[in-house]
Amino acid sequence: MSSNLLRRLGRNFSVRLSLWYTSIFTLSAAVLFLLVYLLLASALQRKDREVIESHLKEYSALYQSGGVGALRSWIARSGEARKEKSLFVRVVGPFNNVLFLTAPEDWIQFEPPTLEFGLPRGVVWVRIPKDEERDFTLAARRFSDGSILQVGRSTNSREMILQPFRRNFLAVTIPILLLGFIGGVLFAYRAMQPMREIVSTAQSIIDTGDLSRRVPLRASEDELDQLARLFNRMLEKNQSLIKSMRESLDNVAHDLRTPLARMRGSAEMALRSPPDSAQLKEALADCVEESERVLTILRTLMDVAEAESGAINLSLQKLDVCSLVREVVDVYAGVAEEKKISITTDFAAPCEAVVDPARIRQVFANLLDNALKYTNEGGQINIQGAHDTSEVTLKFRDTGMGIPAEEQDRIWDRLYRGDKSRSQRGLGLGLSLVKAFVQAHHGRVEVASQVGQGSEFTVHLPA
Ligand code: ADP
Repeated sequence: MSSNLLRRLGRNFSVRLSLWYTSIFTLSAAVLFLLVYLLLASALQRKDREVIESHLKEYSALYQSGGVGALRSWIARSGEARKEKSLFVRVVGPFNNVLFLTAPEDWIQFEPPTLEFGLPRGVVWVRIPKDEERDFTLAARRFSDGSILQVGRSTNSREMILQPFRRNFLAVTIPILLLGFIGGVLFAYRAMQPMREIVSTAQSIIDTGDLSRRVPLRASEDELDQLARLFNRMLEKNQSLIKSMRESLDNVAHDLRTPLARMRGSAEMALRSPPDSAQLKEALADCVEESERVLTILRTLMDVAEAESGAINLSLQKLDVCSLVREVVDVYAGVAEEKKISITTDFAAPCEAVVDPARIRQVFANLLDNALKYTNEGGQINIQGAHDTSEVTLKFRDTGMGIPAEEQDRIWDRLYRGDKSRSQRGLGLGLSLVKAFVQAHHGRVEVASQVGQGSEFTVHLPA
């Protein structure tokens, strides 16, 4: 396997996940095995020692009460009937001289360790492996006269039981681990499918610039599918944002081109015609008017951007906002009269709120300007002001052309103009400015409208 492939496998999340899982599993299995192994080994040892210990006790009592003679005759008497034949019994005197010895056949060629006289009081155990199947287990006890009694017995080799256990553990565990690892990689690889889809969709969008690509969804509802769903929604949002940005850019370019082309036309005409100060003056006046229009578009766009980004500086003061509406109504009285539109107001005085008067006046002016623009001659406009403890509400109601339901969400977008509104003057920036300014005051604005019946714009400002 090349080092490149190994590196790639190491970076693969499914492989890494399975490796972690397998390592944890291996560690737990090893701890479990060790525990069972130790318990088994100690149980085997206990079982081996039980028989020897009981004989050691019995012979000790005999030796202490009747000496070597009593021990010899007891063993000779009961040797055949009981299993003492299989026991090694030796008494060693204080000078390491053997006082008594009886041993089974397989112990003959074996010299059990001669015990040091420094042997502590109590029982001392020795275990010596004999062959593959048997061990010698020996217990020794020192008496007060310096002699030592040894009792031994052949026991099943502990290794014979423990070794297959160890071998089988490895033989069973290694395939299980391998199977677990491979199965883990496969399952993790399958589970990570949505992640791979997300990566490949993102990559293909980066490579091709095609914003319409989406992550294929599965029916399940797990976290990764939710992530894929959210990712798609984000792509959807980004696509519509980029689309509206492009449209805005197109609209700005279009809206700037018209006044600039007019300016250029007036200037060219003035240059071509014979010098006549009246004509030149007219051309310059046209240029000033058109450049004013360009500046208004740019200023309004910057105001909206500033308010939307939260960087706007408001000069806040507590005042009666209805008085601001009255001021605006006065400014538009002439236009209303010209269009034979009646403007009525209905205020619960005083409607006090903390606002930047210049910005809020602009909000009311835009709403009233629209109501006048989109209401036919003889129509009516009514402005209501009300307040409660938490907010001031202002409603601008007109009996104009109304706004189709499908346009009502879009009228707040920068440079958006309704289909039927194109005959009227306008930049498509009035309502985006209204929304941005009202939101900068932590308020909100909403519309309710029916085509042919009229519209109602409601501004809520915190009191
Ligand atoms: P503009 O009036 O310059 O077109 P606005 O941002 O002020 O831009 O308004 C966006 C659109 O909302 C308008 O083009 C029009 O279609 C619609 N609109 C706004 N106010 C009204 C109203 N009072 N009655 C009907 N339509 C309206």
